[in-house]
Amino acid sequence: MLVSIMSEISRSSTRLDQYVDRYAARTKGMTASEIRALFAVASRPEVVSLAGGMPNISGLPLDIVGRAIGDLIKTNGPTAMQYGSGQGTPELREQICEIMRMEGIDAHPDDVVVTVGSQQAVDLVTRIFIDPGDVIICEAPSYVGALGVFRAYQADIVHVEMDEHGLVPELLEQAIAATKAAGRTIKFLYTIPNFHNPAGVTLSAERRPEILRICREADILILEDNPYGLLGFDGPPHRALRADEAEGVIYLGSFSKTFAPGFRVGWALAPHAVREKLVLAQESATLCPPAFSQMAISAYLEQHDWQGQIKQFREMYRERRDAMISALEDMMPASVRWNVPDGGFYVWLTLPPGIDSKAMLPRAVTARVAYVPGTAFYADGFGTSSMRLSFCYPTPERIREGVRRLAGVLEQEMEL
Ligand code: PMP
Repeated sequence: MLVSIMSEISRSSTRLDQYVDRYAARTKGMTASEIRALFAVASRPEVVSLAGGMPNISGLPLDIVGRAIGDLIKTNGPTAMQYGSGQGTPELREQICEIMRMEGIDAHPDDVVVTVGSQQAVDLVTRIFIDPGDVIICEAPSYVGALGVFRAYQADIVHVEMDEHGLVPELLEQAIAATKAAGRTIKFLYTIPNFHNPAGVTLSAERRPEILRICREADILILEDNPYGLLGFDGPPHRALRADEAEGVIYLGSFSKTFAPGFRVGWALAPHAVREKLVLAQESATLCPPAFSQMAISAYLEQHDWQGQIKQFREMYRERRDAMISALEDMMPASVRWNVPDGGFYVWLTLPPGIDSKAMLPRAVTARVAYVPGTAFYADGFGTSSMRLSFCYPTPERIREGVRRLAGVLEQEMEL
């Protein structure tokens, strides 16, 4: 099996590209990592994949969704199948404002721009702010999909460390000062305050005003990416950064984890002037976000107990988190460390020095378990001795089996 994995990787990375001299400079930043090829192998049924961050939508009431879509076609089909507004449908924007109140944000529907997933919102924000060589400050580690966008727009990434309470304010201050002293332009801080992907940590309530103050004083916008905010395992949702500073914060939300990613609907809340630019950027990218998806989501939110559904998702993910943590406690070698996330999908593992999680991945896949090596979440090659494990998709039994296989591979690795 290892041989076939390696040949799959080399096939994808050595294929000659006859157009290579014609691409724009920015296209050089778009590279498919060899991990991608490993993922194709990791999706085989015999492999326990702790790699992907796919939401587990098996609990969705498909009959109710189907009925809502059927009614939509009967009552509003021609509108749902037409082009729509570049900013999104007024009804969905109003419903988004209602959802935002759960995180303390008092938004007006005019503040909302609907996007094709929050991934497109990351792209649009980057497009309107970044010139090549501008700096974006990101947590260390950070979301691989955002790093890909930032790279494609030729931004330079400055990483700032987190601890178990999230981004460390003093280190943020130091990084801003050092970057400015080097004559560089910082355009924004990209942060995932809740149930971080990939680190699993949450920014503490005490640090939130600190981060806002530091960015306000340094005149740096905050891009607050919060797709997991309603998927906390204990207590009410955390108060958003934007709740306390609407002018300095662009907030990104998504229906991908609380409903279904297949509709590809997310949103941005932005200060008025930025929102206008985002709508123009949206219109040039897609003309408009899909009317059908937006109207289907509106119908779902109206006709279904969506809050009850999110509660069910939270309970399912909590059970899977518990399964992963207890399996790690029971089976991992003593020198491996991890955090216990209060929500979301991910656990971050720190391995003993000297273990290279990327080099180990083919051996893990041969042992029928997959993860994402830590280096994927850094722009600068760090993260060698760490990895992200996802507990969102496999059943608790499969998670336990996956951790058992991974522990076996790690033990062998430590003996080498
Ligand atoms: N931000 C983060 C932190 C994510 O984890 C994801 C999805 N994995 C996204 C943005 C994009 O989500 P979507 O486009 O489906 O809304």
